[in-house]
Amino acid sequence: MAIAASTRLAAVIGDPVRHSLSPVIHNAAFEACGIDGVYVALPVKPGDAASAIAAMRSFDWYGLSVTMPHKQAIAEVCDDLTESARALDAVNCVFWRDDKIVGDNTDGHGFIRGLHADLGVTVEGMNCVVVGAGGAAKAVVRSLAASEAAQVIVVNRNPDRAAAAALLAGDAGRVGTSADLEHADLVVNATPIGMADTDHATGTPLDVACLSDHAVVSDLIYHPAETPLLVATRERGLQSQNGLAMLVHQAVVQFEHWTRVEAPVEAMRAALSLALTSR
Ligand code: NAP
Repeated sequence: MAIAASTRLAAVIGDPVRHSLSPVIHNAAFEACGIDGVYVALPVKPGDAASAIAAMRSFDWYGLSVTMPHKQAIAEVCDDLTESARALDAVNCVFWRDDKIVGDNTDGHGFIRGLHADLGVTVEGMNCVVVGAGGAAKAVVRSLAASEAAQVIVVNRNPDRAAAAALLAGDAGRVGTSADLEHADLVVNATPIGMADTDHATGTPLDVACLSDHAVVSDLIYHPAETPLLVATRERGLQSQNGLAMLVHQAVVQFEHWTRVEAPVEAMRAALSLALTSR
């Protein structure tokens, strides 16, 4: 759809932000739905997050995606926060509800939706092990518990960060060790081990030989599409997925917050896959 006087804006704010794949995903969604919107990347310097919210208020934008370093600062200037944004103290999406600007964190919700969409897996009653305890791990830990996983065990190099992440799962959460992998129904890699173009590109965060025959593995990395962990998982014949599903579905939740229209998941996934293969 051509940009016109009627076109409404959505944007991702961050620093840096010019590498972001979010414009590809959301513009594909606007296009597929025939919505008169456009999504751009806006570099916003640290300390300027409040001006982005003021601009959204003045210019009636659809909303914002929020990336580093603004996820906490934005949480402080929204009119209201969702439960996940409050628990994680991090906002990755801002949207209008009535005349209020609400901050949400859609990563965990996106993870759960992506797991179900890709693999048909629902986590209720499952024993889950999350390897890693950073921002992505915390969102996943919280959403696993909110989706009624039986146990959410966090295994991480730094024990203090593991404990902080496990707290987000309430009674279902605890810190674990690699010995817990043996009884896991679902294992999530939330470390960068296996990510392309890093020092850890050829590594694996866990030994798949420890896993049971029914374990499902979700690697949050999406570049490369198949990490060394996922190669090993495939060779063992286990169900698995990479991080593309979470990336698409956290955007799906954002798009639906802004437009209140069902997101065109396949168009968004196709646009993202194409952008990743041409990188
Ligand atoms: P982060 O906040 O920097 O956390 C990284 C975690 O990995 C920390 O717990 C860290 O352990 C652990 N770690 C890092 N290097 C390690 C190593 N060499 N050995 C053992 N543990 C190590 O990062 P993040 O934002 O949570 O991202 C984590 C991963 O998720 C990245 O691969 C990222 O690309 C991916 N991700 C995917 C999506 C998606 O939509 N698919 C979204 C967000 C993130 P310590 O605490 O001990 O330092």
